[in-house]
Amino acid sequence: MRAPGSTSRRTGARKLAGAVPMRESAIQAAVVQHWRLFGQPHTLVAAIPNEAAKGQPGLTKGLPDLLVIGGRVRIAFLELKTPNGSLSFEQKLFRNLCAFVGIECVAAYGRDEPIAVLEGWGILRPNLNGPVR
Ligand SMILES: [Mg+2]
Repeated sequence: MRAPGSTSRRTGARKLAGAVPMRESAIQAAVVQHWRLFGQPHTLVAAIPNEAAKGQPGLTKGLPDLLVIGGRVRIAFLELKTPNGSLSFEQKLFRNLCAFVGIECVAAYGRDEPIAVLEGWGILRPNLNGPVR
């Protein structure tokens, strides 16, 4: 057993003392809550049911986590990942489709990165106090 704050010999990854990695569902909840509090008028950030949802015709593997409407992008998709997450084959196919038809589709990692993406897209009011902490 390793002490908090120690470095893994195998991976070299440093564990922060007391840091609990956020699950993707917690990241999604934080991002949507942030938009509800700080979203620009006439914007939308909404969850997209994916194949894990049951019973709806048209559920499709690889759809991103969030539909984003408004701001400078008008329409875009945001795929949320944990800091160590990676895109599935189907997610890469969807991203390629979006690139082909000229729609923004971005994968963002951790909690702060998707919020910064939404700020960049003009979906959130600018944070004049620096990065979200
Ligand atoms: Mg995701």
